[in-house]
Formats: sequence, C-alpha cells, structure tokens
Amino acid sequence: MMSEQKQDKHQQRQQKLKQQVDQRIDAAQEERGLLLVITGNGKGKTTSGFGMITRALGHGQTCAVAQFIKGTWDNGEKNLLEKLGVTFHVMATGFTWETQDKQKDTLAAQKVWQQCKTLLSDDSIDVILLDELTYMVTYGYIELEEIVQTLENRPSEQSVIITGRAAHRTLLEMADTVSEVRNVKHGFEAGLKARKGIDW
Ligand code: ATP
Ligand code: MG
Repeated sequence: MMSEQKQDKHQQRQQKLKQQVDQRIDAAQEERGLLLVITGNGKGKTTSGFGMITRALGHGQTCAVAQFIKGTWDNGEKNLLEKLGVTFHVMATGFTWETQDKQKDTLAAQKVWQQCKTLLSDDSIDVILLDELTYMVTYGYIELEEIVQTLENRPSEQSVIITGRAAHRTLLEMADTVSEVRNVKHGFEAGLKARKGIDW
C-alpha cells in the first residue's frame, strides 16, 4: 500500500502528465494522411504495416498493399485480406533477397510500381502499404526521385506505410512517422526454422 503522502504525490504527478498530454493533443491541429516508415534490422516491420491495414479495414476504410519482395512462401496476410477486399500487387518474379537477374527484376519492380502509381493517385484509397519498397531504391530498380514526387503528389487524406531495412535518408526525412525496429535477438540465429503464422 502507498502511504497517503506518496499517493498525493503520485496523483499530482499524474495530473501534471495529463495536463501536458492534453496540451499536446490540443496543439495538434493538422489533419491529413501520414507517411510512415518502418525500418531497421529487427523482426516486426511488415507485420506492423499489416497491423495498420487491419486497423484501417476495421474502420471501414479502403486499403491496398504492394509487396516488392515475394517470399518463396505462402502469404498469410494476403490469404486473409484479399477476401476482405484489400487490393494486392505482388512482384511476380521469383525475386527474393538474392538478386539474380537485374534486368528481369527491374522489369518486375517497375510493373508493381506502375500499379502503385495508380493507387497513389486514387483518393478513394485510405491506406497503402508499400512493403519492402526500401530495397527497390537500394538496388536502383525504381528512381528515388520518382517515388518522392509520387508520394508528395498523392491525395492529401491518403496514408502510406513503407517498410524495409535501410530506408533511404530522403524517405526518412519526408516521412511524418519513422520507427526503427532493432534486433535484440531472433530465433533464426539460434537455428530455429521460420514458422508459419509467425514468419509468413
Ligand atoms: P515480419 O514480416 O515478421 O514483420 P520484417 O518485415 O521485420 O518481419 P524482413 O526483414 O522483411 O522482416 O524479413 C522477413 C522475414 O525474415 C520474416 O520471416 C522474419 O521473421 C525474418 N527476419 C526478420 N528479422 C530477422 C532477423 N533479424 N534475423 C533473422 N530473420 C529475420
Ligand atoms: Mg518485411
């Protein structure tokens, strides 16, 4: 049990904190779509992006997903969310982490990017996930400048989530919200196999 004195102090502190938070909430006046980047080496970037898609869907919003790296595995999120009306564009080559054929990969990336450009000019879409887009910049498959311009010109109410490791500095600068997922440890390092429902 807290002593009465401690209880008072605790209440005072909470009161002050509440005032500060309320002030900040009042100060936030602008309302528009956000650009978010989820980057870093830890696990949780793509699943975070899909978490927001699910959240938006639950509010009856319209969502779309573009995936720039197609895993060799089945895709749990796509299996579920397509049934709920989410548009998916997935890079169609067997392209994974190890790039083999630059020309083929560039073509495949460009094809998905063209579809993204349509989504990014459609104001009926509330939230778009551009999963693993960061690598397309790193590998030079899509021009950074073109991505920046397309994002800047998108409908003002539209939110966009970009995921992937090593996001380009320009993307970090233009984003409203950036989170870096840090790897503390990963089961893979201890020899654990990737697991359905957890890793894909
Ligand atoms: P998730 O899709 O689970 O949210 P992620 O998007 O953060 O993961 P990616 O870098 O896109 O991670 O890698 C995708 C796959 O690699 C997932 O199966 C994930 O579990 C695995 N992975 C993520 N981080 C690591 C890591 N630090 N070491 C080993 N494997 C990882
Ligand atoms: Mg990912």
